[in-house]
Amino acid sequence: MSEKLTGIGVSPGVIAGPVARMAGPPALTGRSVLNVPEALSAVALQLRGRAAGEAEEILEAQIMMVEDPQLLEDAERLTAEGLDPARALDRAFSAHEKALLELGGYFAERAADVEDLRHRAVAAALGRPMPGLPEPGHPYILVADDLSPADTATLDSAVLAIVTRRGGPTSHTAILARARGIPAVVACPDAGLLADGDLVAVDGSLGSVRRGVTEREIDDIRDAFLATRARLRDGRGPGRTADGHAVPLMSNIGSAADPVGEEGVGLFRTEFLFLDRRTAPSLEEQEAAYAAVFSRGGKVVVRTLDAGTDKPLPFLGLAEEENPALGIRGLRVDRVLPEVLNTQLDAMVRAAAANPSAEVWVMAPMVTTWQEAAAFAARARARGVTRVGVMIEVPAAALMARELLEHVDFLSIGTNDLSQYTFAADRQHAGLADLLDPWQPALLRLVAACARAGLEMGKPVGVCGEAAGDPRLAPVLVGLGISSLSMSATSVPAVRESLAGVTLGQCRAAAAGVL
Ligand code: PEP
Ligand code: MG
Repeated sequence: MSEKLTGIGVSPGVIAGPVARMAGPPALTGRSVLNVPEALSAVALQLRGRAAGEAEEILEAQIMMVEDPQLLEDAERLTAEGLDPARALDRAFSAHEKALLELGGYFAERAADVEDLRHRAVAAALGRPMPGLPEPGHPYILVADDLSPADTATLDSAVLAIVTRRGGPTSHTAILARARGIPAVVACPDAGLLADGDLVAVDGSLGSVRRGVTEREIDDIRDAFLATRARLRDGRGPGRTADGHAVPLMSNIGSAADPVGEEGVGLFRTEFLFLDRRTAPSLEEQEAAYAAVFSRGGKVVVRTLDAGTDKPLPFLGLAEEENPALGIRGLRVDRVLPEVLNTQLDAMVRAAAANPSAEVWVMAPMVTTWQEAAAFAARARARGVTRVGVMIEVPAAALMARELLEHVDFLSIGTNDLSQYTFAADRQHAGLADLLDPWQPALLRLVAACARAGLEMGKPVGVCGEAAGDPRLAPVLVGLGISSLSMSATSVPAVRESLAGVTLGQCRAAAAGVL
């Protein structure tokens, strides 16, 4: 009998196969056979041996952590106090993990990276095999508590899909799985029930794992998956419905290194450039970073810094808050640090002027009232921005979309935050995935209200949250009147194909049904 487990789908595709579980962390028993520096070198050596291609940057960051002199000093001090090297390493890495967890948001997600290094270092010291990917000798569905960057970075083609108990939509697992086109489900609380050899079907769009599939079903699902992948890889051209209604399919990026599809960038998350900065990036430095993206030409929708809560920017030195998601974040940072926005707008305008082949649009995140939208638009225009917009991430702004559009040229709906604030559910919370489901009618009604305002005012209203990359939802969004969709570049082919298979009339009928 088949049985279904649910989690959050973070990388689309349906595939089936046998489960292979990741080796667990080493137990802290027995005595060490290596001292602290030897164990750390062994870990660095192992990671160096695996660094290759796009994984290199991630593994380099891991190697830097292992070679951190502070960590060595802390662990050596503990051994000098009489602790066995494995226990000293365990304690030194744990202190580092705790500090990251206390910082919260993006940093807390990096704590899993340090935890992985701790397990490797402890295993090395105890002379046991370091934890890592299983090698069952055939293609498999990888099931783990969580994956470290080192694990995700070295996934090979034997991994058909990934299922993890922990992790969120912004975890390394999610990002790399999407980039590689490997279906993935994270935050699946019952992943621990899956045993080696269980036959399962994983749906990375719906976020489900079905246990108890037959060998025959596995073959059929795998054939369909491979056929879909080959077909999507060959797909080209702009986004449009079967009857020719154009819907530009744009890409979400965090830097010039991220891939961009044919129709430009719909969301450039500029804060990703500066997440680990302790000092403010200068005007010139910002100009160069933006120019690196603009120099490719085409349309680029740049977002001003979206700092705070899940994306803290240490260089801003913002005060600690009890409830940061409801505090000073996004455009609200301007209330306390107005020069930051001025510098950023100037850098964007200079970079745009130097790269005339780019069509630069600028928008602000976390806008709540029309007065904020009007003030932002006036500021941006005064500094030379020609197309100014705002993101819709707060229900109050969605309800006033028409009034906002009286002051700006376009809206871009951030469904990740709009879900969080509409359903009062932390977007990183694995236990609230059902509330964060973009098919929730309350969310779609807010999207519909914005789209309607855009149609009335003759101004574009796009979606740039994760919902835009869901091939099943895309026709619904178009039917609601959304004019463009922006997603990770790897999601574009499936959305293109989905839209090409329906007419605008069918999209509208689907939208009406869903509402
Ligand atoms: C969103 O909130 O949907 C969005 C696109 O912005 P971010 O995910 O960067 O907060
Ligand atoms: Mg957002």
